[in-house]
Amino acid sequence: MRVAVFSTKQYDHHFLVEANQQVGYELEFFELRLTRATVALARGFDGICVFVNDVVDSVVLEELAGHGLRVVALRCAGFNNVDLEAAEQFGIKVVRVPAYSPFAVAEHTIALLLGLNRRLHRAYSRVRDGNFALQGLMGFDLHGRTVGVVGTGRIGQVVIEILRGFGCHVLAFDVFKNSDVERAGATYVSLDELFARSDVITLHCPLTPDTRYLINQNSIACMKRGVVLINTSRGAIVDTDDVIAGLKSGQIGGLAIDVYEEEADLFFEDLSSEVIHDDVFARLLTFPNVLITGHQAFFTQDALEEIARTTIANLTDIKHGVECVNEVTGELIRPRA
Ligand code: NAD
Repeated sequence: MRVAVFSTKQYDHHFLVEANQQVGYELEFFELRLTRATVALARGFDGICVFVNDVVDSVVLEELAGHGLRVVALRCAGFNNVDLEAAEQFGIKVVRVPAYSPFAVAEHTIALLLGLNRRLHRAYSRVRDGNFALQGLMGFDLHGRTVGVVGTGRIGQVVIEILRGFGCHVLAFDVFKNSDVERAGATYVSLDELFARSDVITLHCPLTPDTRYLINQNSIACMKRGVVLINTSRGAIVDTDDVIAGLKSGQIGGLAIDVYEEEADLFFEDLSSEVIHDDVFARLLTFPNVLITGHQAFFTQDALEEIARTTIANLTDIKHGVECVNEVTGELIRPRA
């Protein structure tokens, strides 16, 4: 089986080569992102292996189908960058890694919350500069605070367990309730109630047409003044312009994000010697109460090993024409009956 691996970094190469040792597929690694401009590189391959910011839209899929490609293997859980209906139409299977390590993302979410709340990003530079003043570093106890968790799937559930360990009250919202979540001590409420009562809101739902800009001017207005927002899910769940307005007015007391709607032009690259052209992102960087990481929540050794192992296993299922439990079908985005 010949597979073109796009958006390859040194760490992807390392873990995929290791996982591929048993089966010996022909993997060709490209540093380039998959886009309409680079899709020609996939000519002659049976499959492509892509990540979160590769473009797998209908135009790209049509060209891939024209080359006889059979499978798109996502090395991530989210599949919002793939046009699933087009894939179905062109007979291309889409497989993903639904659960490589919910702990990796959940723990990073908590790291962001703690770091932002106690202003660790500022404290770190101050201390290195010999500035031991505390002004501007005051946080609040998480114990006894109310945290709203939107999306109680694999990652949301781990976040809830950690938060309960801190002594937080946890409110949850999901389109499907899970009794394990209630057993863990969280209380399902409506989204409106979650927005109105939470001191901290953390997002763990996928990006779908329903969740795009879930956090917007109107929802922000319904939140507690000074609310802390955490987003490790997908950038476009948040309307960044509206969040900036909320930060300026003080309605939002802090923002920590690992994802950003326009991250494809920024994240995963070293741009430290270049001018950032994205003015919205540049504005975010000016706030003392904003903490940003560049889509690294998944980035643990355990997660990368599991991503590579599952990706190779998914390709093997497709190669042998057996049912792949990690296949993404249109039903995952269509409402369940
Ligand atoms: P999951 O599928 O286990 O859980 C998602 C949950 O969201 C489900 O319970 C689902 O019912 C719920 N949901 C769907 N639509 C909703 C809506 N409109 N409102 C509220 N809840 C809704 O997924 P997961 O493994 O927990 O991952 C969650 C998200 O985290 C992924 O979709 C992905 O976008 C993101 N993620 C980010 C990183 C990172 O490195 N930053 C890594 C992995 C995943």
